Amino acid sequence: MMELTDMQVIRSLAKRTGFTFSKGLGQNFLIDPEVCPAIAEYGIPSRECGVLEIGTGFGVLTYQLALHSECVRAVELDRRLEPVLKETLAEFDNIRVIWQDFMKLDLPAFLAEQFGERDVAVCANLPYYITSPILMHLLESNVKLASITVMVQKEAAERLCADLGTRAAGAVTAAVRLRGSAEQLFSVPRDSFYPAPKVDSAVIRITPYQNPLCDADMLAKTLRVVKAGFAQRRKTAVNGLAAGLDLPKEQVAAALAACGQSETVRFEQLDTDTLLRLTETLYAGE
Ligand code: SAM
Repeated sequence: MMELTDMQVIRSLAKRTGFTFSKGLGQNFLIDPEVCPAIAEYGIPSRECGVLEIGTGFGVLTYQLALHSECVRAVELDRRLEPVLKETLAEFDNIRVIWQDFMKLDLPAFLAEQFGERDVAVCANLPYYITSPILMHLLESNVKLASITVMVQKEAAERLCADLGTRAAGAVTAAVRLRGSAEQLFSVPRDSFYPAPKVDSAVIRITPYQNPLCDADMLAKTLRVVKAGFAQRRKTAVNGLAAGLDLPKEQVAAALAACGQSETVRFEQLDTDTLLRLTETLYAGE
């Protein structure tokens, strides 16, 4: 086994394969030996459960995931990592690396192809430049997931775990709340990574509800409303939604009133139940 948290090993691997770290791709690799085993412990409910990783880097987390699950599929954008992973993950036959941009995957088709009937959990140290888009892609696609356990910037962790109706909440918070519950598991200081980022991080886990709050069609509509509402969060909900959804102001005001909300309510003040009722009212008859 290669010590992938050992700086000497990392430097020599990088030198041998000619690899240079890309800031643009969020390449801050984990070098704290305790963090990857902890993510695998928290994130993988059983050996039978498949694991989807986003972003392998040198494979330090992939390695631990493969010790805990029979079936690991890792999506990585940067093909320059291929010679590195050939060395670092050589001992496993339960890992497949898929060289793709995660954002371009058709997730239902991809999961069916890679995992068949297996349950699937997501575990990753996310590239920070696209944390919210990646989580939105997972939550929006309405695929069934056992859990999503990911490392994100501390501020993003706070946003994801915030209550709706608070200042910290954003569109991605609402998307999380519509699909499940979120908890912060542990903090990870910046010096646990190489190269060290400028901010600290935290690992969070999103656990989808056993009984979804709504069906796929309703989820898609509600997320459309959520994105429009949060895009104009400083405006009143009436003005923001009318502009964002291209609807008459009177129709939005009537829908808000039907949900017991005043004309002056701001979108960020609405809770999950209200978001669902509001969407139902706005799209009644469609
Ligand atoms: N898992 C490794 C670790 O913990 O050390 C690497 C994590 S690093 C923060 C993020 C990884 O995501 C990098 O390897 C980067 O190349 C990859 N990545 C960036 N954008 C991606 C995308 N759109 N799709 C797939 N992988 C991506």
